[in-house]
Amino acid sequence: MRDIKIGVLGLQGAVREHVAAIEANGAGAVVVKNLEQLKEIDGLIIPGGESTTMRRLIDKYDFMDPLKEFAISGKPMFGTCAGLILLAKSVEGYEEPHIGAMDVHIERNSFGRQKESFEVDLDISGVANGFPSVFIRAPHIVRVGKNVEILAMHNNRIVAAREGQFLGCSFHPELTKDHRFNSYFINMVRKQKDYY
Ligand code: GLN
Repeated sequence: MRDIKIGVLGLQGAVREHVAAIEANGAGAVVVKNLEQLKEIDGLIIPGGESTTMRRLIDKYDFMDPLKEFAISGKPMFGTCAGLILLAKSVEGYEEPHIGAMDVHIERNSFGRQKESFEVDLDISGVANGFPSVFIRAPHIVRVGKNVEILAMHNNRIVAAREGQFLGCSFHPELTKDHRFNSYFINMVRKQKDYY
């Protein structure tokens, strides 16, 4: 198996926790803070945080086109919470998406306010059963395109999905010591890299 490097977009949000989860799974982690680093990595995680703030920083540091190109290149991308909002093809109430890569329609802040944050064990198809999932002002997936596989539901809402190279979830998989979701993404990246 060849060595892989996973980037975590390091402009805002839960960056350190993703790095720790990647390293716990034995892969290399890169905090991506400049455009050159996008060329060194085999897959990219866009963390949770605040999508509007992250978007502002993406624009400020000219990341938008390179992120779109990264998506077009076929390399795996994993959006968690705010990262899923950034990855989606459309967002409720917004005329334009952000990166607009994954064929899902998202609604923001679907599970209440910050103080209503909660943790629940979810069965995530092909990933893990009883996975501790932390929801913090989380979005949900309202609709998916035809090539999107739904991986998990909570309260009749879609909260995790995959479309080929794209993986997304409403919650924060990096905030507990259970690194199985991260491990699933790392395997996606390994398979993709061996393929080329
Ligand atoms: N509510 C945030 C947003 O809309 C997402 C929250 C999170 O990433 N924990 O960007």
